[in-house]
Amino acid sequence: AEIALKRAKEADEPYALYSPELERLLLEEDFLKRALLEGLKKGEFFLSYQPIVTLQKKQVIGAEALVRWQHPELGPIAPAKFIPLAERTGLIEPLGDYVLSQALKEFGPLAREKGLELALNFSPRQFCKRDLSLRIEKALTEANFPPEKLFLEITESTAMEDPALTLKILEDLRSLGLKVALDDFGMGYSSLRYLVEFAVDRIKVDQFFVSALPLDSKALHVIRTILELARSVGARGLAEGIERADQVEILLKLGCEEGQGYFFGRPVRIEDFGRFL
Ligand code: C2E
Ligand code: MG
Ligand code: MG
Ligand code: MG
Repeated sequence: AEIALKRAKEADEPYALYSPELERLLLEEDFLKRALLEGLKKGEFFLSYQPIVTLQKKQVIGAEALVRWQHPELGPIAPAKFIPLAERTGLIEPLGDYVLSQALKEFGPLAREKGLELALNFSPRQFCKRDLSLRIEKALTEANFPPEKLFLEITESTAMEDPALTLKILEDLRSLGLKVALDDFGMGYSSLRYLVEFAVDRIKVDQFFVSALPLDSKALHVIRTILELARSVGARGLAEGIERADQVEILLKLGCEEGQGYFFGRPVRIEDFGRFL
């Protein structure tokens, strides 16, 4: 019924009807949910690491861990498809636990020996869990991972959902010594007042704007503004989704410090990331 209502709303219809197609959708959702749970047990999930570089010196300073699901029959399933489902069904908790412990374990040596930073994504439900900082603290200790090398990525929308709560959570996280990044910046609505109070360490310009470079001068001005905003709140500016050299040139001129995208490296398994380095 929830899906029927959502679809009706999206289609701008004042009513929702059950149809065979809808039933199939419901089945699919149910199917996916069970498959996700099963996949977690059977080890069908793994992590890919995408390099994060400094734009000036082209130095790799870290990586973002991105979860991957390889289903035995359906093949690879994109995070855009299963993360929202995992959020809706609560399965994001076991999935998030897997990502956290696996990433800290796999990336630990690179953080300890090479000083590289690891970035992990947290969706709204994960971020608002009461015991978030306790869980992270435990995982850090278990993996002997240096807290100052861990970046927690939340989207602008997650952060602004309940700014007062976010402020409290960020305080807890910061007392653990880890860092926070605002992901997909420019796609949501940020309160400038809270942006100052949050004191985030990195702002990631959404790839929507970066992909419009070099031709779209409006996108360029928006990026410039976001980077200035980052500077004024003491955060590092990072551009996501860099695919070409001409984009790097422009971003350098705009004073962007960090970058990420296919131009520098695609997300790869940890063994290949080591080779890439
Ligand atoms: P995100 O955190 O903004 O991650 C960046 C996405 O852009 C990734 O997609 C990455 O593969 C893709 N990307 C990187 N460079 C380029 C580029 O040059 N061009 C283009 N076109 N795309 C690029 P992916 O891996 O499909 O992840 C999608 C989203 O799923 C992520 O967006 C993140 O919000 C979410 N996600 C991924 N892993 C996790 C996870 O472990 N936990 C949670 N909660 N969410 C995750
Ligand atoms: Mg991210
Ligand atoms: Mg992003
Ligand atoms: Mg994104």
